[in-house]
Amino acid sequence: MTGLPAVSLSRIFIVSGPGGVGKGTIVSALVERDPRLWLSRSWTTREQRPGERDTAYVFTDHATFERHIEEGGFLEWTSFLGNYYGTPRPDVTSQRDVVLEIEVDGARQVKSVHPEAVLIFVLPPSREEQQRRLRGRGDPEDKVDQRLQKALDEEPVGLAIANHVVVNDDLERTVDEMMEIIRQHRSAD
Ligand code: 5GP
Repeated sequence: MTGLPAVSLSRIFIVSGPGGVGKGTIVSALVERDPRLWLSRSWTTREQRPGERDTAYVFTDHATFERHIEEGGFLEWTSFLGNYYGTPRPDVTSQRDVVLEIEVDGARQVKSVHPEAVLIFVLPPSREEQQRRLRGRGDPEDKVDQRLQKALDEEPVGLAIANHVVVNDDLERTVDEMMEIIRQHRSAD
């Protein structure tokens, strides 16, 4: 016999969208609802925010991050407003499906390596709500402005490569809609 034994690979669901749309809250709710989903923990060189959980990221320094890039340790990585963010290579042979919560450049990279990955792009219900959420994080005002600009730049790029677009107008409804998208992809395999 030739070829490798069949291994059933995990699906990859990418949750992306401009800053301030509530991606973090959504992915936490998704993995809580469905034990077959596994949320990847990213690395970042950004400083931990006051009150932010230690487990929100692997917080690291620039030198360690760059070493990990050279070692090929990331599925994707990007530089976002002066800091690195990256997804460590996930175990796609695990029983669970992988959820990535990443910005648009990273989503684009993952789709180029894994075209079968499902990109769900989240939009805010309004610009006002998005701004309110971005300002509510305790970042300095100049950072908030940069994040707002970045969010506006990201949106058209994300919409162009998304498999699904979801408006986060109400958390429960949004999570229901996303679970339904996930269910459809699972049953299509
Ligand atoms: P924050 O600093 O607000 O935690 O994250 C800034 C942006 O980076 C958010 O849009 C977030 O989704 C994104 N992000 C978080 N982790 C990763 C990652 O591993 N890769 C990429 N490309 N973006 C990430």
